[in-house]
Amino acid sequence: MNDGADSALRRTELSDEGGMRLALRLAAQAEEAGEVPVGAIVIHGQRVVARACNQVEMLKDATAHAEMIALTQASAAVGDWRLTDCTLIVTKEPCPMCAGAMVNARLGRLVYGAADARMGAAGSALSITDYPGMLHRVAVTGGVLGPECQAQLQAFFRRRRQEEKDGKAHGETGQ
Ligand SMILES: [Zn+2]
Repeated sequence: MNDGADSALRRTELSDEGGMRLALRLAAQAEEAGEVPVGAIVIHGQRVVARACNQVEMLKDATAHAEMIALTQASAAVGDWRLTDCTLIVTKEPCPMCAGAMVNARLGRLVYGAADARMGAAGSALSITDYPGMLHRVAVTGGVLGPECQAQLQAFFRRRRQEEKDGKAHGETGQ
């Protein structure tokens, strides 16, 4: 991702809300590129070591969720696959794939914005981050800037449904 806008934040201690605002901006960048707007960052000590957004469409890769890309970036930056001292901040509750990756990475802490009752795997639909049989449990804080994160996603899906409707209408008139 581009290094410019938030480089000033890199060595500043970020609150959960401050980190979420950064993630919301990354999600907006995803939306501009035609992706479902999800953004994620990883904090290690006082540094932001990963900044990612959803890139499923661009990369044509179902695994290219913001969190997966952020975990890969963070591991490269930290120089270890274990991210025990890291906090991942993401605008939407992670899906089962991403939550599983967080457990495998021994992620220290997860902060998410909007809960996802249907697919959320950090306590809403499933609880992969806190599953008794797993090797590692991730500390979870949910609902940080929840209404803002929810609004961003809802606006995106509302717009997309409208575009699909418009597209169909065009189809019927032979375009
Ligand atoms: Zn995911």
